This record gives sequence, structure tokens and C-alpha cells, in this order.
Amino acid sequence: MTSIDSTASTQDVVNRPYEECGVVGIWGAPDAAAMTALGLHALQHRGQEATGIVSHDGTRFYQHKGLGLVGEVFHDPRIMQTLPGMVAIGHNRYATTGETLLRNVQPLYADFEFGGLAVAHNGNLTNAMTLRKALVRRGCLFQSTTDTEVFVHLIAISLYTNVLDRLIDAVKQVKGAYSLVALTPDGLVGLRDPLGVRPLILGRMPGEGAWVLVSETCALDIVGAEYVRDIEPGEIVVINNDGIRSLKPFEERGSRFCVFEYIYFARPDSILEGKAVYEARQKIGIELARESAVDADVIVPVPDSGVPSAMGFARESGIPFELGIIRNHYVGRTFIEPTDQIRNLGVKMKHSANRPVLEGKRVVLVDDSIVRGTTSRKIVDMVRAAGAKEVHMRISSPPTIHPCFYGIDTPEESKLLAATHDLEQMRELIGVDSLAFISFDGLYRALGHKDRADASGRYCDACFTGDYPISLVDKDGKLVA
Ligand code: AMP
Repeated sequence: MTSIDSTASTQDVVNRPYEECGVVGIWGAPDAAAMTALGLHALQHRGQEATGIVSHDGTRFYQHKGLGLVGEVFHDPRIMQTLPGMVAIGHNRYATTGETLLRNVQPLYADFEFGGLAVAHNGNLTNAMTLRKALVRRGCLFQSTTDTEVFVHLIAISLYTNVLDRLIDAVKQVKGAYSLVALTPDGLVGLRDPLGVRPLILGRMPGEGAWVLVSETCALDIVGAEYVRDIEPGEIVVINNDGIRSLKPFEERGSRFCVFEYIYFARPDSILEGKAVYEARQKIGIELARESAVDADVIVPVPDSGVPSAMGFARESGIPFELGIIRNHYVGRTFIEPTDQIRNLGVKMKHSANRPVLEGKRVVLVDDSIVRGTTSRKIVDMVRAAGAKEVHMRISSPPTIHPCFYGIDTPEESKLLAATHDLEQMRELIGVDSLAFISFDGLYRALGHKDRADASGRYCDACFTGDYPISLVDKDGKLVA
């Protein structure tokens, strides 16, 4: 979900950091809003800026939204009492810069001639700006600056009478990587973009006819739901008192699931597309140890995202795994801070060196990615200041050389360290004795394929390759796929 400023040029918009989010939808469960809040809490890692819930009690819609964490916005039990009903959807928003206006917080709700509709989405539309301009020319009045609102207007102006046909009409005009949940007069709707870049999971809740849609499986346990299946790429599910209906309005184009969900974004206890994230990360660490072995005394993860790969690295290399860096969990992700200066401070606030583990040691630091290089530089300085004799860095992703236009927050290319520096320059800048990234073959072996060629066309890895599987309409002004 990305913010759009209609006064900004197209270039400004595509240069902005993009956003990941988490969504939840519940059908047929008592206290649906409270269940939704629990699901959102489990998905807090997907967005910490704002959160909201819309519920329905069979007669009308109710909503509560706010800026902050789920626990902050829904801290008061009285708030839950204002969200009655056995049906609800919710959203966690992740944004790094730009507006944090309440009117941008999802789910978005609108009244149509067919009744009310609430919608929340995770991901990014790549033609939102183009569509928005056309819609504004047609007289649509936008209330927010988020691209989610494009769905709302496309649904409003659709000539179809049935709400589901209108929704299909809308999603057919949209390009991008997104998972969406919507409350409509026809029921709870869940859908994934035609290439299934962003995740969406179906679960069954205790009780007759009770279902849940969540961005990741880690949100199922907390609501007592069991996993049923991943929604398929391009699939729309409609859940109501008649059960579940599945529609496939798009031409099948295979699946291009986001490989960065496995590397960094998803919670390690989630299972996405049948693969356990934790296991995938450990296996990447094993591959990394095979490819880029180094004589050392300790393997130290950059917490938290480097932990499973560092465990795999340690296991494969036989070098002890130690918590040489301690993370303060009460600080948000450094990316959330807007300026470089605050970002630097953020890293210091977030991590501290565990001196007895590092002093006099040859240390291998394992992290999931280098984006701007801010984190790595700070961490390496810290580890050296704690007395490490040598510092080696191993990264469980290939170099990030292209921005993501599909919902993962990355800066523009000129700010990506690996886009502007070669390996030796990066090593020197970060200040390590050696630096290595996982190879594509190693990454895809860890994900259960023979090699890179075997995984070809199965994932979106545009941030590492520049192979963008979905048209970047707003960026290029033309369709590329
Ligand atoms: P940087 O300091 O810019 O090199 O960022 C790299 C660090 O940020 C790594 O430790 C990652 O764990 C983390 N990271 C990578 N991608 C993202 C993202 N999209 N959002 C938030 N953090 C990220």
C-alpha cells in the first residue's frame, strides 16, 4: 500500500519508499474484531505505523483506526465494544516517509449504491498514479492519498451491477503486487494479484462456517485457526454463509512469489507457499557457509533477521554460534526513521555489543541484507570497538541493486549500496576483513530447487536482478509486461 500525492510528479512518486503491510479478514466468528486485532498483533512486523479494523454486525459497518501499534490503537477494551459483529477486516500499515494522516489508514470504507464496502490491501499498485489521474479527470474525488482508494473509485464507477463483478472489473484494471481483503454485501472477499507476489492465507476457525484470511500463517495460531491453504495467484475467494466460492478471473500466468519474504520480511515461524521461513533461512545460512567459508572463532547474527541464517552457518561450519549483538526490542525498525541522521541513531539505539563474546575474537557477522549499508557500518564499528580481532560479514541475500516497486520498502537505486559500489568497495566502506553474499544458486538451493535455472520464473527477485515481472506503468509511462 503506497501513498500517492496527486500534486507530486510521477517521478517523485516512484522514487518514494514503498510499503509492506499486513491484512486480516474474519468471517463468522464471535468477537470478530477482537480476533482481527489478535491477528494484526501477530502481523505487527509487517507494519508499525498505523492500524485499523472495520467490523460488520449484519446490519451496519463500524470502524476504528489510529496511528501506532496494534496494542496502542486497540488498548482499551471499550474500543472493541464499538466494533460488534461476527465479521471484520483489519490492516497494519508500514510507511517510512510521507504522510501519516489518519485518512490514509486502512481499511478504507465507502458507501456505494449497492451498500457499504471496506477494503484493505498489502502491496503496491504500479499503475495507481496513472489510474488516479484518469479517475480525477472523470470527476472522482479522492479522500486519501493512498493507492488503495483507486480500488474504491474503480468499484464505484464500474457499470456492473453486482458488487463482485464490480470488484473484478476494478482489479482487472489494476497492475501491481497486492493481496486484498474486503467486506462487501456479498461476504468477505480475499484476493491475490495474478502472479501471487504478496502472500494471503486461508484458515479455518473453530465453529461452523468460521474462516480467516491472513497475510502470514503466524497469525493463524493466535486466533486458534488451522491452516487450510494459500490463496492462489489471481484467485478471488468469497466467503459467506453459503461457504467459500473460488473465482479465477485472470488468465493463469504462474506464480512469482516474493523471494524477499523468505529472506527478510516474513516472520520466521510462518509457512508461505508450503515452505517454512525459518527452515529456508537456516538453509540459506548452510549454503552461505559452504560458499564463503572463513576461519573464525564465533558466528554472530545481526538480530533478529540474521538469526536463523547464522544458526545454519554455524551448524555447517562447526564454529560456535554466539549472541554477540543484543537487540533492544522496544525500538522500531531503523527504516521507519526518515532522515539518515536519525536512521544512524536508530541503529545505535537498537543494537549493542556483547563485549565478552567479541573481545579478541575472529567474528563472522551474518545479516539478511545490505540496503543502504547504514546498519552494517554501525554494527561493524560496534563489534570492532568491543575488541573483535577480525570482522567478516556474510549476507543471506544476493546484493540488493534495484528498488522494489511491489511493496517492499527500498530506497531509490542511487541509495542502494550494492548498486553504486562493487564488492571490494563495499567491503572497504563497511570496514570488514571479508564480505560475501549468497549466490543465486545457493539461495534457490536453500528454497528447495536444484539451482537458479531450476527456480527461473518461479519467484520475484527483481530487487536482486532487475527482472520486474509486473508492468511498472507509473514509472515507465508504458506497459512492460
Ligand atoms: P541498511 O542499513 O540500509 O543497509 O539496511 C539493512 C538492514 O535493514 C538489514 O539489517 C535488514 O535486516 C533490514 N532491512 C532490509 N530490508 C528492509 C526493509 N524493506 N524494511 C526494513 N528493514 C529492512
